[in-house]
Amino acid sequence: MNFFCNDIEGVDLDQSAELVPDEVQEAVRTLLRWVGEDPDREGLRDTPLRYAKAWQEYCQGYEEDPGMHLARTFEEVAGYDEIVLLKDIPFHSHCEHHLAPITGKASIAYLPTNRVVGISKLARVLHGYARRLQIQERLTAEVAQAIWDHLQPSGVAVVIEAQHGCMTGRGVKTPGVGMVTSRLLGCFLEDKSSRAELFSLMGY
Ligand SMILES: [Zn+2]
Repeated sequence: MNFFCNDIEGVDLDQSAELVPDEVQEAVRTLLRWVGEDPDREGLRDTPLRYAKAWQEYCQGYEEDPGMHLARTFEEVAGYDEIVLLKDIPFHSHCEHHLAPITGKASIAYLPTNRVVGISKLARVLHGYARRLQIQERLTAEVAQAIWDHLQPSGVAVVIEAQHGCMTGRGVKTPGVGMVTSRLLGCFLEDKSSRAELFSLMGY
């Protein structure tokens, strides 16, 4: 069953009530009761609906193929054949093990062969995959692979630094600890000097 609906954004709570199935709201009420709350008290009355709407937004990425943002490319690059890097793009995601927030920043680079893409598209690819349930390793790999497949560049690099709510707010409770993942493809993987240039541009 598909609970997600594109047109829910921007409508008020009463209107959107019809767009969130009762069983979804009931599931949230069950959860609230289970943690010791009274889902009928005033402050929580609209929470199941708000929660469902929030999750609809967190998981919007299932509604799209993030690679489609790379479909429109430009071949006129005026001989530019150096690294294109979009640095420190902030993103939010959720871990698939605890549904806890993952917040961080990503740096995405590629070395074009003869096709480039509008720079904001790289961020759109990231957000498309981030707005799904994720683990950081897979998010990193998926973004890199989409760029590799669509732009067929000489190299792709994705480096993600993120904090995981499941680690900072529960379990071992270690706020401030970031996790770094990277995926290098093509020349950034194979060629030492390309990799050195990349990491110096990225500031590592
Ligand atoms: Zn987790």
